[in-house]
Amino acid sequence: MIKKNVVEKTSADQEKFLALLNQKKLKFTYERRHIFEEIERLNDHFDADSLYERLKKKGYRIARDTVYRTLPLLLESGMIQKSAGAGKRDYFERVSIKGHHDHMICIQTGKIIEFHSDEIEKLQDEIAHKHGFKIIFHDHRIFGLSKEAQAASANEG
Ligand SMILES: [Zn+2]
Ligand SMILES: [Zn+2]
Repeated sequence: MIKKNVVEKTSADQEKFLALLNQKKLKFTYERRHIFEEIERLNDHFDADSLYERLKKKGYRIARDTVYRTLPLLLESGMIQKSAGAGKRDYFERVSIKGHHDHMICIQTGKIIEFHSDEIEKLQDEIAHKHGFKIIFHDHRIFGLSKEAQAASANEG
């Protein structure tokens, strides 16, 4: 990263992303910059295609493929985490909004419950460590039936 005299506001997220790119000998290209900046503006969960559409609407010339290939880098940098949503596609959200958390997904109603457990996080680290495994990122999702879905099926019976 070239230091300039002009003080540029770099966020913690940007510093992490730049450090990762540097480590991988990748450049902060036009495409990566605009993908990064667009995500910085998002406050809700998103998927690759909706992000691509937003960029396209704003007139950035970025291929859909590039969006798909940039998201894993942002995941690895810790700026975003996998989220949950309807269907099979991958959803993402910025970690800085709510902090790291995992999801429970009701397969009947689509309800998503967010949770965080220090104990689970700690256990995951310990298990990975035991296997000599270096965690890059994780998304822990539990699929099942919400209270509402269980009540609805009980009423049917
Ligand atoms: Zn979430
Ligand atoms: Zn977690």
